Amino acid sequence: MSASLQLSIAGVVLRHGVPVPLTNEAPSSWMSRLAMAQGRPLKEIMAVLQFSLRQGWDPDAELLGARLPQLLRQCCLHQSAFAYAARSMSLLICTGSKASSALLTWRDRSRFRCCPACLATSPIPYLDIRWRIADWRHCLRHSCLLEDRCWKCDAYITYPVDMEQSAAGQAGHASQRRCQRCSADLAGVGPAYVDFRRPGVVTQIELYRRHRCWP
Ligand SMILES: [Zn+2]
Ligand SMILES: [Zn+2]
Repeated sequence: MSASLQLSIAGVVLRHGVPVPLTNEAPSSWMSRLAMAQGRPLKEIMAVLQFSLRQGWDPDAELLGARLPQLLRQCCLHQSAFAYAARSMSLLICTGSKASSALLTWRDRSRFRCCPACLATSPIPYLDIRWRIADWRHCLRHSCLLEDRCWKCDAYITYPVDMEQSAAGQAGHASQRRCQRCSADLAGVGPAYVDFRRPGVVTQIELYRRHRCWP
C-alpha cells in the first residue's frame, strides 16, 4: 500500500500524489493518471476508493453524480474539480440523451476520440470529456476533425487503463498522448482541418445553437 494512503474516520483518504484534474478532463483520464502518480495498479487504487472496475462500469457517467462529492473528499480535491465534466454530463441528460447512448464505448469500455493538435500542445496530455460524446466530432479550438482511432494500429482509445503496464508505459511513454496499445504518438498525425463555413457540415456549433445551453 502506498505511503500516501492514510486512514481517517471517514475511510481511506489519498493525501499525496493526487494529480489535479485538468480543465475539461474526463474522470476516466484522471483515474489513469492517479494510478500512475500513486505508483500502484489501477485496480488497487479503485478498490481503495471503493470503486470496482466491473464490466460496463462507466466512470465518466457514474462518477459525476452523487458519488462525486465523496470522491473529492477522498482525494482532497477542491469542490470545483470536475465541474466542467459534471456540467457536460448533466447537459447531455437535459438535452434528452441517455448518457449510456450518448457516450462512446467499445466492448463495454469508455471510448474517446482525440484531437492530435490538443494532445501535441497540452503540457500534460489528457482526454477531454467532450471527446467521449458521440455527436462531438470536431475540435473547436483547432477547427479539425477528432481522430477516431490510433493512426498506426487502428485501436480505439479506451480508458481508464493502467498506463504503466500498457505498451506505451512499457516503452517508457506512459502518457495519454500515446496509444496505450502500440505506443504510437497520437499527436503524430496531421489534423484533418474542417472549413466550418461550408454548407452542410454538421458541427457541434449547430448542436450548441440548437440547445443554447452547452458550456
Ligand atoms: Zn484541438
Ligand atoms: Zn496504436
